[in-house]
Amino acid sequence: MRKIVIAGNWKMYKTQVESLEFLQEFKPHLDETPDDREVVLCTPYTALAIMSKSMHNGRVQLGAQNVHWEESGAFTGEISGPMLTEIGVRYVIVGHSERRQFFGETDETVNRRLKAAQQYGLIPILCVGETKQQRDAGETESIIANQIKKDLVDVDQQKLVIAYEPIWAIGTGDTCETKEANRVIGLIRSQLSNANVSIQYGGSVKPDNIDEIMAQPEIDGVLVGGASLQAESFGRIVNYN
Ligand code: PEP
Repeated sequence: MRKIVIAGNWKMYKTQVESLEFLQEFKPHLDETPDDREVVLCTPYTALAIMSKSMHNGRVQLGAQNVHWEESGAFTGEISGPMLTEIGVRYVIVGHSERRQFFGETDETVNRRLKAAQQYGLIPILCVGETKQQRDAGETESIIANQIKKDLVDVDQQKLVIAYEPIWAIGTGDTCETKEANRVIGLIRSQLSNANVSIQYGGSVKPDNIDEIMAQPEIDGVLVGGASLQAESFGRIVNYN
């Protein structure tokens, strides 16, 4: 069974105080959320521990935004799987386009992070997607197929979420046509050995397009940046019709 996973990616936004304020405002929205929807908040590292203590009923799962492949070591600025699981983190975003674009993330390091996440009991959310230039050049299918192939070498597909995030749609308000997102996600699925991997769409998901996105048969959830920062809009997204 494919699980519905709705995840917020807070990127480098919100202090601890702001995170707790969000949670207070967000919690009432969850009363209406059907049980079969997994709700995840991927907060900055600094907010994870305090958020974890305030979410003891487990209705919201916590996610981090990166993980290193080693358990510990001289890797300044990195964070390890055991450091995350110790404080109740369950998911981790791996290979987000902002990390690939600004921090030198490659398919090889993405693959190492994915395997480490699973080894330490985290569920990775692997992000793949093409640039506008690649789409215009008709390379979408080959770019995505290549990312999936390289990123998933020796990765356990039983403990994995994938997010199709066309880079040109992230933070731009320029959402991918829902049928097109559905088509690409279908292509991703055809490359997997496990048909039950949940595959999300990400890229300018908003309260006013979530219903149409989630009506698509191949789309199992969403990864949401900007619209996950306000309790009201993320509340509407988790409670899509
Ligand atoms: C993201 O950060 O993964 C994302 C999809 O951002 P936004 O929803 O703001 O486009």
